[in-house]
Amino acid sequence: MIQLEGITKSFGSLQVLKGIDLIINKGEVVSIVGPSGAGKTTLLQIMGTLDKPDSGRIVLNGTEVNRLKEKELSAFRNKEIGFVFQFHQLLPEFTALENVMIPALIQGISASEAKKNAREMLDFLGLAERASHKPAELSGGEKQRVAVARALINHPSVVLADEPSGSLDTQNKIELHRLFFDLRDKLGQTFVIVTHDEELAAQTDRTIHIVDGMIK
Ligand code: ADP
Repeated sequence: MIQLEGITKSFGSLQVLKGIDLIINKGEVVSIVGPSGAGKTTLLQIMGTLDKPDSGRIVLNGTEVNRLKEKELSAFRNKEIGFVFQFHQLLPEFTALENVMIPALIQGISASEAKKNAREMLDFLGLAERASHKPAELSGGEKQRVAVARALINHPSVVLADEPSGSLDTQNKIELHRLFFDLRDKLGQTFVIVTHDEELAAQTDRTIHIVDGMIK
C-alpha cells in the first residue's frame, strides 16, 4: 500500500531523513516512534505527499506519486489519503457535518451526496447527535472523532495520523485508539500513526523506530 525507497530530506544544512526504505501493507496499523526531532513528522508529511523528498521514490496504492503533476497530486491526495492531526484543525465557523463534507466537495461530489455520506460517517462514529454542532460546542474527544470522520469521508486507502491522541485525556485516548483498530477491521484501511504514546504503539501491528533520520 505504501512503498518508500531511499527517501532523503534536508532543511538547509540539516539532513532530517537519511535514506528511508519502508513497505507498509494494506490493512496494517503501523506506529512510528522515536525521539523528538528524529524526523517522524517529516516522514509522515512526505508519505502523505504534503512535502517532497530531496530524493527517493514513493508508491502509494500502486501510484508513483513523484510522477504526478501538482493538480493530479492534490486530487490524488484528497481521494487516497486521510489526515488526522494532533489538534483537530476543524474549521470553527462550520458545523461538524459541514467540516466532514469538505473533502467530498473538493473531490467533486455533489452537495447532497456529500451531506449524505458525511451523515453516514458521523453516524458510524457515534456522532449523529453532534452533526449540527460547531467545533466550539464539542468536547475534545468529539472534535477528534469529527476530524477522523473528515479524514475518512472519501474512503481513503491510507490514514496518516500525527500524534492523534496527543491532546486527549485518558478515556478519550482509549476510545480513539479503539476506533482506529475498529476502522481497520471494518473498512480495511491502512493506518500510519506517529506517536509518543507507548501504549498505543504497543497495540499496533508493527512499530517503526526512527532515530536521527534513519529506521533503527
Ligand atoms: P519529529 O516529528 O521526529 O519530532 P520532525 O520531522 O518534526 O521531527 O523534525 C525533524 C527536524 O527537522 C527537526 O530538527 C525540525 O526542527 C526540523 N524541521 C522540520 N520541519 C522543518 C522545516 N519546515 N524547516 C526547517 N526545519 C524543519
